[in-house]
Amino acid sequence: MQTIRAIKEMQALSTRLRSEGKSIGFVPTMGALHEGHLSLLRRSKDENVFTAVSIFVNPTQFGPQEDFNKYPRDLDGDLDKLSPLKVDAVFFPDAGEMYPEGFSTSIQIGHIGEILCGASRPGHFNGVATVVSKLFNIVMPHRAYFGQKDFQQTAVIRKLVRELNFDIDVNVCPTVRETDGLAMSSRNAYLTKEQRKAAAILFRSLMLGKDLVVSGRISDARRVKSGMMGLIEGEPLVGVEYVEVVDAENLAEIREIKTPAAICLAVRIGDTRLIDNIIIDNMEKLV
Ligand code: AMP
Repeated sequence: MQTIRAIKEMQALSTRLRSEGKSIGFVPTMGALHEGHLSLLRRSKDENVFTAVSIFVNPTQFGPQEDFNKYPRDLDGDLDKLSPLKVDAVFFPDAGEMYPEGFSTSIQIGHIGEILCGASRPGHFNGVATVVSKLFNIVMPHRAYFGQKDFQQTAVIRKLVRELNFDIDVNVCPTVRETDGLAMSSRNAYLTKEQRKAAAILFRSLMLGKDLVVSGRISDARRVKSGMMGLIEGEPLVGVEYVEVVDAENLAEIREIKTPAAICLAVRIGDTRLIDNIIIDNMEKLV
Protein backbone atom coordinates (compact mmCIF):
# COMPACT_ATOMS: atom_id res chain seq x y z
CA MET A 1 0.00 0.00 0.00
CA GLN A 2 1.52 3.31 -1.07
CA THR A 3 1.02 6.27 1.25
CA ILE A 4 1.10 9.58 -0.54
CA ARG A 5 0.97 13.09 0.89
CA ALA A 6 1.90 15.18 -2.16
CA ILE A 7 -0.63 16.12 -4.85
CA LYS A 8 2.01 15.92 -7.60
CA GLU A 9 2.99 12.40 -6.57
CA MET A 10 -0.63 11.19 -6.59
CA GLN A 11 -1.23 12.78 -9.99
CA ALA A 12 1.94 11.24 -11.44
CA LEU A 13 0.89 7.79 -10.19
CA SER A 14 -2.63 8.13 -11.62
CA THR A 15 -1.30 9.42 -14.93
CA ARG A 16 0.99 6.39 -15.20
CA LEU A 17 -1.81 3.94 -14.29
CA ARG A 18 -4.10 5.53 -16.86
CA SER A 19 -1.43 5.35 -19.56
CA GLU A 20 -1.09 1.63 -18.77
CA GLY A 21 -4.85 1.22 -19.25
CA LYS A 22 -5.48 0.37 -15.57
CA SER A 23 -8.84 1.31 -14.07
CA ILE A 24 -8.73 3.46 -10.93
CA GLY A 25 -11.42 3.28 -8.24
CA PHE A 26 -11.53 6.00 -5.58
CA VAL A 27 -13.13 6.34 -2.14
CA PRO A 28 -12.87 9.80 -0.53
CA THR A 29 -13.12 9.75 3.28
CA MET A 30 -12.39 11.84 6.34
CA GLY A 31 -10.80 8.86 8.10
CA ALA A 32 -11.75 7.25 11.44
CA LEU A 33 -12.60 4.35 9.19
CA HIS A 34 -15.34 1.85 9.96
CA GLU A 35 -17.14 -0.95 8.13
CA GLY A 36 -19.16 1.59 6.10
CA HIS A 37 -15.98 2.98 4.54
CA LEU A 38 -14.50 -0.50 4.12
CA SER A 39 -17.59 -1.66 2.21
CA LEU A 40 -16.97 1.07 -0.38
CA LEU A 41 -13.33 0.01 -0.67
CA ARG A 42 -14.27 -3.65 -1.15
CA ARG A 43 -16.64 -2.65 -3.95
CA SER A 44 -13.89 -0.57 -5.58
CA LYS A 45 -11.43 -3.46 -5.27
CA ASP A 46 -13.96 -5.75 -7.01
CA GLU A 47 -14.48 -3.35 -9.90
CA ASN A 48 -11.06 -1.78 -10.54
CA VAL A 49 -7.44 -2.74 -11.05
CA PHE A 50 -6.25 -0.02 -8.67
CA THR A 51 -8.03 1.38 -5.61
CA ALA A 52 -7.13 4.65 -3.89
CA VAL A 53 -8.62 6.03 -0.68
CA SER A 54 -8.17 9.58 0.53
CA ILE A 55 -8.15 10.57 4.18
CA PHE A 56 -8.62 14.28 4.64
CA VAL A 57 -10.69 16.08 7.27
CA ASN A 58 -11.72 18.94 5.03
CA PRO A 59 -11.87 22.22 6.99
CA THR A 60 -14.01 24.02 4.39
CA GLN A 61 -17.02 21.78 4.95
CA PHE A 62 -17.23 22.51 8.68
CA GLY A 63 -19.03 25.56 10.03
CA PRO A 64 -17.31 27.74 12.68
CA GLN A 65 -19.37 26.18 15.49
CA GLU A 66 -18.97 22.62 14.21
CA ASP A 67 -16.75 19.73 15.27
CA PHE A 68 -13.70 20.17 12.97
CA ASN A 69 -11.24 20.27 15.88
CA LYS A 70 -12.69 17.32 17.75
CA TYR A 71 -13.47 15.20 14.65
CA PRO A 72 -11.86 11.77 15.31
CA ARG A 73 -8.44 11.34 13.69
CA ASP A 74 -6.65 7.98 13.84
CA LEU A 75 -4.27 7.56 10.93
CA ASP A 76 -2.45 4.55 12.43
CA GLY A 77 -5.73 2.78 13.18
CA ASP A 78 -6.94 3.60 9.66
CA LEU A 79 -3.81 2.17 8.04
CA ASP A 80 -4.24 -1.02 10.12
CA LYS A 81 -7.81 -1.37 8.83
CA LEU A 82 -6.77 -0.73 5.23
CA SER A 83 -3.86 -3.12 4.96
CA PRO A 84 -5.84 -6.42 5.03
CA LEU A 85 -8.05 -5.04 2.25
CA LYS A 86 -5.03 -4.60 0.02
CA VAL A 87 -5.96 -1.06 -0.90
CA ASP A 88 -3.32 0.16 -3.36
CA ALA A 89 -2.85 3.79 -2.31
CA VAL A 90 -3.77 6.06 0.58
CA PHE A 91 -3.71 9.76 -0.21
CA PHE A 92 -3.57 11.87 2.97
CA PRO A 93 -2.57 15.43 2.24
CA ASP A 94 -2.38 18.08 4.94
CA ALA A 95 -4.51 21.22 4.82
CA GLY A 96 -1.62 23.33 3.47
CA GLU A 97 -1.18 20.95 0.53
CA MET A 98 -4.87 21.14 -0.37
CA TYR A 99 -5.41 24.84 0.43
CA PRO A 100 -2.14 26.73 0.03
CA GLU A 101 -1.86 30.38 1.10
CA GLY A 102 -4.17 32.53 -1.01
CA PHE A 103 -6.47 29.68 -2.12
CA SER A 104 -9.89 31.18 -2.92
CA THR A 105 -11.76 29.03 -5.46
CA SER A 106 -15.12 27.63 -4.38
CA ILE A 107 -17.79 25.66 -6.19
CA GLN A 108 -21.32 26.92 -5.57
CA ILE A 109 -23.59 23.92 -5.89
CA GLY A 110 -26.77 26.00 -5.51
CA HIS A 111 -30.20 25.11 -4.13
CA ILE A 112 -29.58 21.37 -3.72
CA GLY A 113 -26.97 22.25 -1.11
CA GLU A 114 -29.18 24.70 0.75
CA ILE A 115 -32.07 22.39 1.68
CA LEU A 116 -32.22 19.54 4.25
CA CYS A 117 -28.78 19.44 5.96
CA GLY A 118 -27.71 22.56 4.04
CA ALA A 119 -30.32 24.64 5.89
CA SER A 120 -28.48 24.23 9.20
CA ARG A 121 -25.01 23.84 7.66
CA PRO A 122 -24.60 26.85 5.33
CA GLY A 123 -21.68 26.39 2.93
CA HIS A 124 -21.19 22.74 3.87
CA PHE A 125 -22.04 21.31 0.46
CA ASN A 126 -20.02 23.97 -1.37
CA GLY A 127 -17.07 22.83 0.73
CA VAL A 128 -17.82 19.20 -0.15
CA ALA A 129 -18.20 19.99 -3.87
CA THR A 130 -14.94 21.94 -3.90
CA VAL A 131 -12.84 19.34 -2.11
CA VAL A 132 -14.31 16.45 -4.11
CA SER A 133 -13.56 18.32 -7.36
CA LYS A 134 -9.97 18.81 -6.24
CA LEU A 135 -9.67 15.15 -5.22
CA PHE A 136 -11.11 14.04 -8.58
CA ASN A 137 -8.49 16.14 -10.39
CA ILE A 138 -5.74 14.74 -8.17
CA VAL A 139 -6.69 11.03 -8.13
CA MET A 140 -8.21 11.03 -11.64
CA PRO A 141 -10.37 7.96 -10.99
CA HIS A 142 -12.54 6.12 -13.50
CA ARG A 143 -15.03 5.25 -10.76
CA ALA A 144 -15.79 6.87 -7.39
CA TYR A 145 -17.73 5.31 -4.52
CA PHE A 146 -19.97 7.10 -2.01
CA GLY A 147 -22.29 5.85 0.75
CA GLN A 148 -26.06 6.21 0.63
CA LYS A 149 -25.82 7.18 4.29
CA ASP A 150 -24.96 10.70 3.15
CA PHE A 151 -27.82 10.79 0.69
CA GLN A 152 -27.85 14.52 0.04
CA GLN A 153 -24.09 14.39 -0.54
CA THR A 154 -24.58 11.73 -3.23
CA ALA A 155 -27.11 13.98 -5.00
CA VAL A 156 -24.67 16.90 -4.77
CA ILE A 157 -21.83 14.80 -6.21
CA ARG A 158 -23.98 13.44 -9.04
CA LYS A 159 -24.97 16.99 -9.97
CA LEU A 160 -21.36 18.20 -9.72
CA VAL A 161 -20.10 15.40 -11.98
CA ARG A 162 -22.88 15.98 -14.50
CA GLU A 163 -22.58 19.77 -14.63
CA LEU A 164 -18.77 20.02 -14.59
CA ASN A 165 -18.40 17.07 -17.00
CA PHE A 166 -16.14 14.94 -14.84
CA ASP A 167 -15.64 11.71 -16.77
CA ILE A 168 -16.18 9.64 -13.63
CA ASP A 169 -18.71 6.94 -12.88
CA VAL A 170 -20.34 7.75 -9.51
CA ASN A 171 -21.46 4.71 -7.54
CA VAL A 172 -23.73 4.92 -4.48
CA CYS A 173 -23.36 1.99 -2.08
CA PRO A 174 -25.79 0.76 0.62
CA THR A 175 -25.62 2.06 4.19
CA VAL A 176 -23.81 -0.30 6.55
CA ARG A 177 -25.54 -0.53 9.93
CA GLU A 178 -24.89 -1.73 13.46
CA THR A 179 -27.01 -4.68 14.66
CA ASP A 180 -29.69 -2.35 16.09
CA GLY A 181 -29.91 -0.53 12.76
CA LEU A 182 -27.87 2.59 13.63
CA ALA A 183 -25.96 3.68 10.53
CA MET A 184 -22.22 3.42 11.09
CA SER A 185 -20.63 6.86 11.37
CA SER A 186 -17.36 8.24 12.66
CA ARG A 187 -19.50 10.58 14.79
CA ASN A 188 -21.10 7.67 16.67
CA ALA A 189 -17.89 7.68 18.74
CA TYR A 190 -19.11 10.91 20.38
CA LEU A 191 -22.14 9.19 21.93
CA THR A 192 -22.30 8.15 25.59
CA LYS A 193 -23.60 4.65 26.33
CA GLU A 194 -27.07 6.05 27.04
CA GLN A 195 -27.10 8.22 23.93
CA ARG A 196 -25.90 5.32 21.80
CA LYS A 197 -28.85 3.25 23.00
CA ALA A 198 -31.26 6.09 22.25
CA ALA A 199 -29.80 6.51 18.75
CA ALA A 200 -31.47 3.28 17.62
CA ILE A 201 -34.65 5.36 17.28
CA LEU A 202 -33.35 6.83 13.99
CA PHE A 203 -33.53 3.56 12.12
CA ARG A 204 -36.72 2.47 13.91
CA SER A 205 -38.42 5.67 12.81
CA LEU A 206 -37.25 5.19 9.21
CA MET A 207 -38.60 1.64 9.24
CA LEU A 208 -41.89 2.96 10.60
CA GLY A 209 -42.00 5.57 7.82
CA LYS A 210 -41.38 2.97 5.15
CA ASP A 211 -43.95 0.65 6.70
CA LEU A 212 -46.60 3.39 6.77
CA VAL A 213 -46.05 3.96 3.04
CA VAL A 214 -45.59 0.39 1.84
CA SER A 215 -47.93 -1.60 4.11
CA GLY A 216 -50.17 1.19 5.36
CA ARG A 217 -50.58 2.59 1.84
CA ILE A 218 -50.23 6.13 3.18
CA SER A 219 -49.04 8.44 0.43
CA ASP A 220 -49.57 11.71 2.30
CA ALA A 221 -46.02 12.71 3.26
CA ARG A 222 -47.29 14.84 6.18
CA ARG A 223 -48.93 11.83 7.83
CA VAL A 224 -45.81 9.73 7.39
CA LYS A 225 -43.63 12.48 8.85
CA SER A 226 -45.89 13.03 11.84
CA GLY A 227 -45.99 9.29 12.58
CA MET A 228 -42.20 9.24 12.58
CA MET A 229 -41.89 12.44 14.65
CA GLY A 230 -44.28 10.97 17.23
CA LEU A 231 -42.03 7.95 17.62
CA ILE A 232 -38.82 9.99 17.88
CA GLU A 233 -40.35 12.44 20.35
CA GLY A 234 -40.93 9.48 22.71
CA GLU A 235 -37.13 9.31 23.07
CA PRO A 236 -36.19 12.25 25.32
CA LEU A 237 -32.47 12.23 24.46
CA VAL A 238 -33.15 12.79 20.76
CA GLY A 239 -34.13 16.17 19.26
CA VAL A 240 -35.40 16.26 15.66
CA GLU A 241 -33.77 18.74 13.27
CA TYR A 242 -35.81 17.59 10.28
CA VAL A 243 -37.74 14.67 8.87
CA GLU A 244 -38.47 15.11 5.16
CA VAL A 245 -39.86 13.02 2.34
CA VAL A 246 -38.17 13.98 -0.93
CA ASP A 247 -37.90 12.93 -4.54
CA ALA A 248 -34.94 10.53 -4.52
CA GLU A 249 -33.52 12.00 -7.73
CA ASN A 250 -33.59 15.77 -7.16
CA LEU A 251 -34.38 15.99 -3.42
CA ALA A 252 -37.44 18.16 -4.05
CA GLU A 253 -39.91 18.01 -1.15
CA ILE A 254 -42.94 15.91 -2.02
CA ARG A 255 -46.44 15.93 -0.54
CA GLU A 256 -47.84 12.89 -2.34
CA ILE A 257 -45.42 9.97 -2.14
CA LYS A 258 -44.51 8.34 -5.43
CA THR A 259 -41.45 6.19 -5.97
CA PRO A 260 -38.55 6.60 -5.90
CA ALA A 261 -38.77 8.67 -2.74
CA ALA A 262 -36.33 9.10 0.11
CA ILE A 263 -37.16 9.72 3.75
CA CYS A 264 -34.30 11.73 5.21
CA LEU A 265 -33.76 12.82 8.77
CA ALA A 266 -31.31 14.67 10.97
CA VAL A 267 -31.35 14.65 14.76
CA ARG A 268 -29.31 15.93 17.64
CA ILE A 269 -28.34 13.73 20.56
CA GLY A 270 -26.56 15.97 23.05
CA ASP A 271 -23.98 17.84 20.93
CA THR A 272 -23.88 15.14 18.27
CA ARG A 273 -25.70 15.58 14.98
CA LEU A 274 -26.65 12.34 13.21
CA ILE A 275 -28.32 11.76 9.83
CA ASP A 276 -29.91 8.79 8.13
CA ASN A 277 -32.29 7.98 5.30
CA ILE A 278 -34.19 5.21 3.62
CA ILE A 279 -35.24 4.93 -0.01
CA ILE A 280 -38.69 3.74 -1.00
CA ASP A 281 -38.30 2.43 -4.51
CA ASN A 282 -41.08 -0.09 -4.69
CA MET A 283 -44.52 0.39 -3.10
CA GLU A 284 -45.38 -3.27 -3.62
CA LYS A 285 -42.45 -4.72 -1.73
CA LEU A 286 -42.14 -4.78 2.04
CA VAL A 287 -38.73 -3.79 3.48
P1 AMP B 1 -16.87 10.32 5.69
O1 AMP B 1 -15.55 9.78 6.14
O2 AMP B 1 -17.90 10.41 6.77
O3 AMP B 1 -16.72 11.59 4.87
O4 AMP B 1 -17.45 9.25 4.67
C1 AMP B 1 -16.73 8.83 3.54
C2 AMP B 1 -17.64 8.01 2.67
O5 AMP B 1 -18.09 6.86 3.39
C3 AMP B 1 -18.89 8.77 2.23
O6 AMP B 1 -19.19 8.45 0.89
C4 AMP B 1 -19.94 8.23 3.17
O7 AMP B 1 -21.26 8.30 2.66
C5 AMP B 1 -19.49 6.79 3.32
N1 AMP B 1 -20.07 6.20 4.53
C6 AMP B 1 -20.02 6.72 5.78
N2 AMP B 1 -20.74 5.94 6.62
C7 AMP B 1 -21.24 4.92 5.88
C8 AMP B 1 -22.05 3.78 6.17
N3 AMP B 1 -22.51 3.55 7.39
N4 AMP B 1 -22.36 2.95 5.15
C9 AMP B 1 -21.91 3.18 3.90
N5 AMP B 1 -21.14 4.23 3.56
C10 AMP B 1 -20.81 5.09 4.54
